Amino acid sequence: MESPLTKDDFIEFEEEDFRDRPDRSHLALGSPEPSSDSWKIAIIDDEPDVHRATQLALKNFQFEGKPLLFLSAYSGEEGKQLITSIHPDTALILLDVVMETHDAGLKMVHYIRNELKNPNIRIILRTGHPGEAPEESVILDYDINDYKLKVELTRQKLLTTAIAALRAYRDIMTIEQQRVELKDTLEQLQQAQQALQQHMYRLEVMVAERTAALSAANQKLHRLATLDGLTLVANRHRFDEYCQQQWPLLSKQQQPLSLILLDVDYFKQYNDCYGHQVGDDCLKRIARCIEDTIKRPTDLIARYGGEEFVVLLPYTTLKGATRLAQSILEAIARLNIPHAQSPISDRITVSLGVACLMPQVDIAIATLITSADKALYQAKGEGRNRYCLASPSRSTL
Ligand code: GH3
Ligand code: MG
Ligand code: MG
Repeated sequence: MESPLTKDDFIEFEEEDFRDRPDRSHLALGSPEPSSDSWKIAIIDDEPDVHRATQLALKNFQFEGKPLLFLSAYSGEEGKQLITSIHPDTALILLDVVMETHDAGLKMVHYIRNELKNPNIRIILRTGHPGEAPEESVILDYDINDYKLKVELTRQKLLTTAIAALRAYRDIMTIEQQRVELKDTLEQLQQAQQALQQHMYRLEVMVAERTAALSAANQKLHRLATLDGLTLVANRHRFDEYCQQQWPLLSKQQQPLSLILLDVDYFKQYNDCYGHQVGDDCLKRIARCIEDTIKRPTDLIARYGGEEFVVLLPYTTLKGATRLAQSILEAIARLNIPHAQSPISDRITVSLGVACLMPQVDIAIATLITSADKALYQAKGEGRNRYCLASPSRSTL
């Protein structure tokens, strides 16, 4: 069995180039050697001989292809300085218990674990005075990795202890490295996820904006497709479409549908007298006037063609439609548009034909239009500037 390191060992190695005075050059602030090239082992002990003996015992030893780099401190305070500011990447500390005080080494352990919060450095306590710090309580109370009496540390045992500590340090650092990498990966993932969410949100906003714009454009298009370009009331196409909707609906509900056909009297003469442009303006005013006279949201005024307008009145009896025809006549009169060439008045007048039917699926809506047209013809024949009702045989209610 190998004997512990003794004074003889130190003598034996004195031929090696070690100085008697402790070397404190390592404590000067400067760039420490990169720890990735070597394993840093700090010997913190107030006996210079222990430093020499330890270094000689572990001399030329390599662990996993990397040499050992020895750092020396000769008191607890020096040790703190060494680890804190110069070599925080120390792998192993061989730490004396009794130095400037009887528990300087233990305070150092406490400092590393609790103040530096470094759980990675392996710490092997070595004491020449076991009585100063009972082994069991030290192991329990201080986060150390081994506790040895200096006398029991033969070169062989020191080597074994150092290797075990370096292995543990290597494993801890590998796990630490993996933990850092995992944390980085997680952060990158979270950032990517955030970026993705922001991108998705922007996309959703864009889609919503485009959808709204498209819907507005469609509405505009539909309005344009259903409006009469001159008078801006519904066009003939919209009128036909609305009739197709209302007819079966009212037939099902057994509700009356009335219709008024309106034609401007002597409009050819009006154009001839005032010009086509003034004729256009006149048609616009008449359209607005009819529009302002009808009340219900279900009523529809459309330009039927030329100087003819049609008013479709769902849920309206012949009586109601007649009242409205009368109102339109009066409203047009109130417009008071001069018509110097009209044989019947010095103002613009209109003639109206009024009809009403209870829609039925086996009767075409053309029946209602024809009735109103006949009544309009009658109004023209009877002298214009009036309304006529479709005959009872064709019109009901
Ligand atoms: P009646 O009393 O019998 O209805 O006589 P009228 O002259 O109104 O009827 P006619 O059918 O002979 O003439 C209709 C006129 O309406 C002829 C046409 O130039 C005019 N007209 C039709 N559409 C427009 C239009 O969009 N703008 C203008 N300015 N005139 C139009
Ligand atoms: Mg006409
Ligand atoms: Mg006319």
